[in-house]
Amino acid sequence: MMQLFLPLNFLGFVYREIKSSMTNIEQMFALLGQQAQVQDAEQATELVVSQGHIRFQDVYFSYNPDRPILQGISFEIQPGEKVAVVGASGAGKSTLVKLLFRFYDLTSGSISIDGQDISQVSQQSLRQAIGIVPQDTVLFNDSLYENIRYGLPRASHEQIEQACQLAHLAPFIASLPQGYDTQVGERGLKLSGGEKQRVAIARTLLKNPPIMAFDEATSSLDSHSEQAILKALQAAAQGHSSLVIAHRLSTIVDADRIIVLEQGKIVEQGQHQQLLKLQGHYAALWAVQQRENSPEPSL
Ligand code: ADP
Ligand code: MG
Repeated sequence: MMQLFLPLNFLGFVYREIKSSMTNIEQMFALLGQQAQVQDAEQATELVVSQGHIRFQDVYFSYNPDRPILQGISFEIQPGEKVAVVGASGAGKSTLVKLLFRFYDLTSGSISIDGQDISQVSQQSLRQAIGIVPQDTVLFNDSLYENIRYGLPRASHEQIEQACQLAHLAPFIASLPQGYDTQVGERGLKLSGGEKQRVAIARTLLKNPPIMAFDEATSSLDSHSEQAILKALQAAAQGHSSLVIAHRLSTIVDADRIIVLEQGKIVEQGQHQQLLKLQGHYAALWAVQQRENSPEPSL
């Protein structure tokens, strides 16, 4: 009896262990809305981020071979710089962020961080170094607290509260009868786009990675929420190399460099004022958004 009991118990233990680590991997990809598509290189090393210098070098990429998406993208993010990418929907902005996180391998070219090609380092070490606030944040069916703590499982309660303050999430939590214990996700309270994004910002603040990428989705928000989110993003990115995808140009006028992407190619690059003077693609995008914003009564 004992002989049968022990192995079964042990198998149960192994099963639970495997299942829990699988859930974590699954959750990570679910969180980012992706499937694992890449493999670690055989001699993969651990990424060491010393400065946070990022380099895209002649990057070509397509999801399907018959339809090229990114075509010869080269740019750099110097340590601590904020680089913004703007352009029409479908230009390939979100794809840039996904490639930095190595959700997919490139067709050709390279992406490196502090001189290390990201295809040659372990995915685990790469993803440890980068915090992403995605366009659409996925929440787990769990408490709000656990959803935030996901950014740093060993975080203390004080750290979580501080991250919520910085992410402008605290007033929202305070307004909920069950506060942090509120169940969220598909089977719980549905959060608005802005609230979910603030959860993602709080997670990223907790994780405090050297490199950050924001796929802003502030276009659907009212200007009050947008301002709060912008402040949170700025707090999060302070002193970090960051790649910011901007839907509203007003959110990135202070960027160290703005890259204008059109159909997978960089058509302009520079600071806000420089780009306006060019009177080209960026100036045209700016003019359209100024017109869209002006008739709105400010509340
Ligand atoms: P943006 O963020 O600038 O709106 P994306 O990077 O999301 O653009 O997408 C660029 C192009 O790649 C679009 O034409 C889009 O349809 C296509 N695309 C994005 N994701 C996928 C995918 N998983 N499979 C196939 N095509 C995709
Ligand atoms: Mg996008």
